Amino acid sequence: MERRKTALVTGASRGIGRAVCVRLAQKGMDIAFTYRSDDNGAAETRRLCEEAGAKVYAYRADVSDSAACRETVRALLAENGGHLDVLVNNAGITKDGLLVRMKDEDLDRVLDINLKGTFYMLREAAAVMLKARSGKIINISSVVGISGNAGQVNYAASKAGVIGMTKSLAKELASRHINVNAVAPGMIATDMTAAMSETAKEAAKGMIPFGQMGLPEQVADAVAFLAGEESSYITGQVLCVDGGMTI
Ligand code: NAP
Repeated sequence: MERRKTALVTGASRGIGRAVCVRLAQKGMDIAFTYRSDDNGAAETRRLCEEAGAKVYAYRADVSDSAACRETVRALLAENGGHLDVLVNNAGITKDGLLVRMKDEDLDRVLDINLKGTFYMLREAAAVMLKARSGKIINISSVVGISGNAGQVNYAASKAGVIGMTKSLAKELASRHINVNAVAPGMIATDMTAAMSETAKEAAKGMIPFGQMGLPEQVADAVAFLAGEESSYITGQVLCVDGGMTI
Protein backbone atom coordinates (compact mmCIF):
# COMPACT_ATOMS: atom_id res chain seq x y z
CA MET A 1 0.00 0.00 0.00
CA GLU A 2 1.25 3.49 -0.83
CA ARG A 3 2.42 5.54 2.17
CA ARG A 4 0.14 8.44 3.15
CA LYS A 5 1.82 11.79 2.52
CA THR A 6 2.33 14.33 5.32
CA ALA A 7 1.71 18.05 4.82
CA LEU A 8 2.91 20.68 7.30
CA VAL A 9 0.89 23.93 7.30
CA THR A 10 1.93 26.94 9.41
CA GLY A 11 -0.63 29.21 11.07
CA ALA A 12 -3.61 26.91 10.84
CA SER A 13 -5.76 27.55 13.91
CA ARG A 14 -8.20 29.48 11.68
CA GLY A 15 -8.64 31.19 8.32
CA ILE A 16 -6.80 30.10 5.18
CA GLY A 17 -4.43 27.78 7.09
CA ARG A 18 -7.31 25.76 8.53
CA ALA A 19 -9.03 25.53 5.13
CA VAL A 20 -5.78 24.30 3.57
CA CYS A 21 -5.39 21.62 6.26
CA VAL A 22 -8.94 20.36 5.71
CA ARG A 23 -8.58 20.35 1.92
CA LEU A 24 -5.27 18.43 2.04
CA ALA A 25 -6.78 15.97 4.54
CA GLN A 26 -9.67 15.43 2.10
CA LYS A 27 -7.03 14.79 -0.56
CA GLY A 28 -5.72 11.88 1.56
CA MET A 29 -2.78 13.49 3.36
CA ASP A 30 -1.89 13.39 7.05
CA ILE A 31 -1.71 16.87 8.51
CA ALA A 32 0.83 18.60 10.73
CA PHE A 33 0.12 22.21 11.59
CA THR A 34 1.40 25.06 13.74
CA TYR A 35 -0.30 27.99 15.40
CA ARG A 36 0.77 30.79 17.72
CA SER A 37 -1.67 30.85 20.65
CA ASP A 38 -5.26 29.85 19.83
CA ASP A 39 -5.57 26.38 21.42
CA ASN A 40 -9.35 26.23 20.86
CA GLY A 41 -8.98 27.10 17.18
CA ALA A 42 -6.24 24.48 16.85
CA ALA A 43 -8.50 21.85 18.44
CA GLU A 44 -11.21 22.66 15.88
CA THR A 45 -8.70 22.35 12.99
CA ARG A 46 -7.64 18.98 14.41
CA ARG A 47 -11.27 17.83 14.67
CA LEU A 48 -12.06 18.80 11.06
CA CYS A 49 -8.94 17.08 9.69
CA GLU A 50 -9.57 13.91 11.69
CA GLU A 51 -13.16 13.92 10.45
CA ALA A 52 -11.68 13.93 6.92
CA GLY A 53 -9.63 10.82 7.80
CA ALA A 54 -6.21 12.35 8.50
CA LYS A 55 -3.74 11.62 11.24
CA VAL A 56 -3.01 15.01 12.84
CA TYR A 57 0.07 16.51 14.55
CA ALA A 58 -0.46 19.98 16.08
CA TYR A 59 2.34 22.20 17.37
CA ARG A 60 2.05 25.48 19.26
CA ALA A 61 5.09 27.22 17.77
CA ASP A 62 5.90 30.78 16.74
CA VAL A 63 7.35 30.80 13.21
CA SER A 64 9.40 33.91 13.98
CA ASP A 65 11.49 31.77 16.38
CA SER A 66 14.03 29.80 14.32
CA ALA A 67 14.66 27.29 17.14
CA ALA A 68 10.92 26.63 17.42
CA CYS A 69 10.74 25.97 13.66
CA ARG A 70 13.63 23.51 13.91
CA GLU A 71 12.06 21.79 16.90
CA THR A 72 8.66 21.54 15.16
CA VAL A 73 10.10 19.75 12.14
CA ARG A 74 12.24 17.50 14.37
CA ALA A 75 9.23 16.59 16.50
CA LEU A 76 7.14 15.82 13.42
CA LEU A 77 9.80 13.58 11.89
CA ALA A 78 10.22 11.74 15.20
CA GLU A 79 6.45 11.22 15.49
CA ASN A 80 5.60 10.20 11.94
CA GLY A 81 8.59 8.10 10.94
CA GLY A 82 10.55 10.81 9.14
CA HIS A 83 8.30 12.14 6.37
CA LEU A 84 7.63 15.67 5.20
CA ASP A 85 6.14 15.73 1.72
CA VAL A 86 4.43 19.12 1.56
CA LEU A 87 5.15 22.43 3.32
CA VAL A 88 2.65 25.30 3.21
CA ASN A 89 4.04 28.53 4.67
CA ASN A 90 0.83 30.30 5.60
CA ALA A 91 1.35 32.01 8.99
CA GLY A 92 1.14 35.76 8.56
CA ILE A 93 0.04 39.01 10.17
CA THR A 94 -0.61 42.64 9.25
CA LYS A 95 0.32 45.75 11.20
CA ASP A 96 -0.98 48.45 8.88
CA GLY A 97 -0.31 52.18 8.91
CA LEU A 98 1.06 55.00 6.80
CA LEU A 99 4.83 54.91 6.41
CA VAL A 100 5.52 58.21 8.15
CA ARG A 101 3.73 56.98 11.28
CA MET A 102 4.87 53.36 11.18
CA LYS A 103 6.82 52.25 14.23
CA ASP A 104 10.01 50.18 14.00
CA GLU A 105 8.27 47.33 15.83
CA ASP A 106 5.45 47.25 13.25
CA LEU A 107 8.03 46.71 10.53
CA ASP A 108 10.05 44.21 12.55
CA ARG A 109 7.13 42.04 13.67
CA VAL A 110 5.66 41.75 10.17
CA LEU A 111 9.04 40.90 8.63
CA ASP A 112 9.88 38.51 11.49
CA ILE A 113 6.70 36.45 11.00
CA ASN A 114 5.84 36.77 7.31
CA LEU A 115 9.32 36.78 5.79
CA LYS A 116 11.82 35.36 8.30
CA GLY A 117 9.30 32.79 9.58
CA THR A 118 8.88 31.56 6.02
CA PHE A 119 12.66 31.39 5.61
CA TYR A 120 13.14 29.36 8.84
CA MET A 121 10.50 26.80 7.87
CA LEU A 122 11.85 26.58 4.30
CA ARG A 123 15.34 25.84 5.61
CA GLU A 124 14.13 23.02 7.86
CA ALA A 125 11.81 21.47 5.28
CA ALA A 126 14.24 21.78 2.37
CA ALA A 127 16.85 19.74 4.26
CA VAL A 128 14.36 16.87 4.62
CA MET A 129 13.06 17.13 1.04
CA LEU A 130 16.57 17.27 -0.43
CA LYS A 131 17.35 13.92 1.19
CA ALA A 132 14.06 12.48 -0.05
CA ARG A 133 14.63 14.00 -3.52
CA SER A 134 11.00 15.04 -3.69
CA GLY A 135 8.60 17.51 -2.14
CA LYS A 136 6.13 20.33 -2.71
CA ILE A 137 6.47 23.75 -1.17
CA ILE A 138 3.78 26.41 -1.32
CA ASN A 139 4.35 29.86 0.14
CA ILE A 140 1.36 32.11 0.80
CA SER A 141 2.18 35.58 -0.50
CA SER A 142 -0.44 38.24 -1.35
CA VAL A 143 -1.54 40.40 -4.26
CA VAL A 144 -0.18 43.25 -2.12
CA GLY A 145 3.32 41.79 -2.66
CA ILE A 146 2.76 42.20 -6.41
CA SER A 147 0.81 45.47 -6.72
CA GLY A 148 1.51 47.21 -3.39
CA ASN A 149 -1.11 48.87 -1.18
CA ALA A 150 -1.19 52.23 0.59
CA GLY A 151 -0.88 51.67 4.34
CA GLN A 152 0.88 48.34 3.99
CA VAL A 153 4.54 49.05 3.10
CA ASN A 154 5.71 46.60 5.75
CA TYR A 155 3.30 43.85 4.70
CA ALA A 156 3.95 44.43 0.97
CA ALA A 157 7.71 44.18 1.53
CA SER A 158 7.27 40.91 3.42
CA LYS A 159 5.02 39.39 0.76
CA ALA A 160 7.19 40.59 -2.16
CA GLY A 161 10.10 39.02 -0.28
CA VAL A 162 8.22 35.74 -0.11
CA ILE A 163 7.91 35.79 -3.91
CA GLY A 164 11.66 36.40 -4.27
CA MET A 165 12.37 33.48 -1.92
CA THR A 166 9.97 31.26 -3.84
CA LYS A 167 11.63 31.91 -7.20
CA SER A 168 15.18 31.57 -5.85
CA LEU A 169 14.43 28.36 -3.98
CA ALA A 170 12.60 26.92 -7.00
CA LYS A 171 15.89 27.26 -8.91
CA GLU A 172 17.90 25.77 -6.02
CA LEU A 173 15.69 22.72 -5.57
CA ALA A 174 14.55 21.91 -9.11
CA SER A 175 17.29 19.36 -9.75
CA ARG A 176 15.98 17.32 -6.78
CA HIS A 177 12.41 17.28 -8.10
CA ILE A 178 11.09 19.68 -5.48
CA ASN A 179 8.43 22.15 -6.66
CA VAL A 180 8.37 25.58 -5.01
CA ASN A 181 5.46 27.88 -5.81
CA ALA A 182 3.55 30.78 -4.26
CA VAL A 183 -0.15 31.51 -3.97
CA ALA A 184 -1.15 35.17 -3.84
CA PRO A 185 -4.63 35.60 -2.39
CA GLY A 186 -6.58 38.81 -2.97
CA MET A 187 -9.28 39.82 -0.45
CA ILE A 188 -10.32 36.70 1.44
CA ALA A 189 -12.99 36.58 4.16
CA THR A 190 -11.02 35.72 7.34
CA ASP A 191 -10.27 37.40 10.68
CA MET A 192 -7.51 39.33 8.90
CA THR A 193 -9.97 41.18 6.66
CA ALA A 194 -12.85 41.21 9.20
CA ALA A 195 -11.02 44.03 10.98
CA MET A 196 -11.44 46.36 7.95
CA SER A 197 -14.14 49.05 8.08
CA GLU A 198 -17.24 48.54 5.89
CA THR A 199 -16.20 51.56 3.79
CA ALA A 200 -12.74 50.08 3.19
CA LYS A 201 -14.29 46.71 2.32
CA GLU A 202 -16.70 48.27 -0.19
CA ALA A 203 -13.84 50.24 -1.78
CA ALA A 204 -11.75 47.08 -2.02
CA LYS A 205 -14.64 45.12 -3.57
CA GLY A 206 -14.81 47.80 -6.26
CA MET A 207 -11.32 46.67 -7.36
CA ILE A 208 -12.35 43.02 -7.73
CA PRO A 209 -13.74 42.10 -11.17
CA PHE A 210 -15.75 39.27 -9.58
CA GLY A 211 -17.26 41.90 -7.25
CA GLN A 212 -16.91 39.89 -4.06
CA MET A 213 -14.39 38.68 -1.55
CA GLY A 214 -12.99 35.16 -1.86
CA LEU A 215 -13.34 32.31 0.61
CA PRO A 216 -10.51 30.49 2.41
CA GLU A 217 -11.65 27.27 0.71
CA GLN A 218 -11.03 28.85 -2.72
CA VAL A 219 -7.42 29.56 -1.73
CA ALA A 220 -7.15 26.03 -0.32
CA ASP A 221 -8.17 24.56 -3.70
CA ALA A 222 -5.26 26.36 -5.40
CA VAL A 223 -2.85 25.16 -2.70
CA ALA A 224 -4.14 21.59 -3.06
CA PHE A 225 -3.47 21.76 -6.81
CA LEU A 226 0.13 22.89 -6.21
CA ALA A 227 0.56 20.23 -3.50
CA GLY A 228 -0.55 17.42 -5.81
CA GLU A 229 0.85 15.51 -8.76
CA GLU A 230 -1.31 17.58 -11.16
CA SER A 231 1.27 20.39 -10.84
CA SER A 232 4.39 18.25 -11.34
CA TYR A 233 5.89 20.47 -14.11
CA ILE A 234 5.15 23.82 -12.41
CA THR A 235 7.76 25.58 -10.28
CA GLY A 236 8.69 29.15 -9.32
CA GLN A 237 5.23 30.47 -10.15
CA VAL A 238 2.86 32.83 -8.35
CA LEU A 239 -0.77 31.78 -8.63
CA CYS A 240 -3.14 34.67 -7.88
CA VAL A 241 -6.43 33.68 -6.25
CA ASP A 242 -7.99 37.11 -6.32
CA GLY A 243 -11.20 37.26 -8.38
CA GLY A 244 -9.25 39.10 -11.07
CA MET A 245 -7.84 41.89 -8.84
CA THR A 246 -4.39 41.81 -10.43
CA ILE A 247 -5.51 41.69 -14.08
P1 NAP B 1 -5.77 34.88 10.04
O1 NAP B 1 -7.20 34.49 9.91
O2 NAP B 1 -5.42 36.12 10.79
O3 NAP B 1 -4.97 33.62 10.66
C1 NAP B 1 -3.60 33.71 10.87
C2 NAP B 1 -3.07 32.38 11.34
O4 NAP B 1 -1.66 32.50 11.47
C3 NAP B 1 -3.59 31.97 12.70
O5 NAP B 1 -3.73 30.57 12.74
C4 NAP B 1 -2.48 32.42 13.64
O6 NAP B 1 -2.39 31.65 14.85
C5 NAP B 1 -1.27 32.14 12.79
N1 NAP B 1 -0.11 32.91 13.19
C6 NAP B 1 0.02 34.25 13.28
N2 NAP B 1 1.25 34.57 13.70
C7 NAP B 1 1.91 33.41 13.88
C8 NAP B 1 3.21 33.06 14.31
N3 NAP B 1 4.09 34.01 14.66
N4 NAP B 1 3.56 31.76 14.38
C9 NAP B 1 2.68 30.79 14.04
N5 NAP B 1 1.43 31.04 13.62
C10 NAP B 1 1.05 32.34 13.54
O7 NAP B 1 -5.08 35.06 8.61
P2 NAP B 1 -5.55 34.58 7.15
O8 NAP B 1 -6.39 35.64 6.56
O9 NAP B 1 -6.02 33.19 7.20
O10 NAP B 1 -4.14 34.66 6.40
C11 NAP B 1 -3.31 33.53 6.17
C12 NAP B 1 -2.19 33.92 5.22
O11 NAP B 1 -2.74 34.41 4.01
C13 NAP B 1 -1.29 35.04 5.77
O12 NAP B 1 0.04 34.80 5.38
C14 NAP B 1 -1.83 36.27 5.06
O13 NAP B 1 -0.86 37.27 4.95
C15 NAP B 1 -2.21 35.69 3.72
N6 NAP B 1 -3.19 36.48 2.99
C16 NAP B 1 -4.44 36.68 3.50
C17 NAP B 1 -5.34 37.47 2.77
C18 NAP B 1 -6.74 37.74 3.25
O14 NAP B 1 -7.44 38.52 2.59
N7 NAP B 1 -7.21 37.15 4.33
C19 NAP B 1 -4.95 38.02 1.55
C20 NAP B 1 -3.68 37.78 1.08
C21 NAP B 1 -2.79 37.00 1.79
P3 NAP B 1 -3.21 32.11 16.19
O15 NAP B 1 -4.67 31.94 15.85
O16 NAP B 1 -2.77 31.15 17.23
O17 NAP B 1 -2.85 33.54 16.43
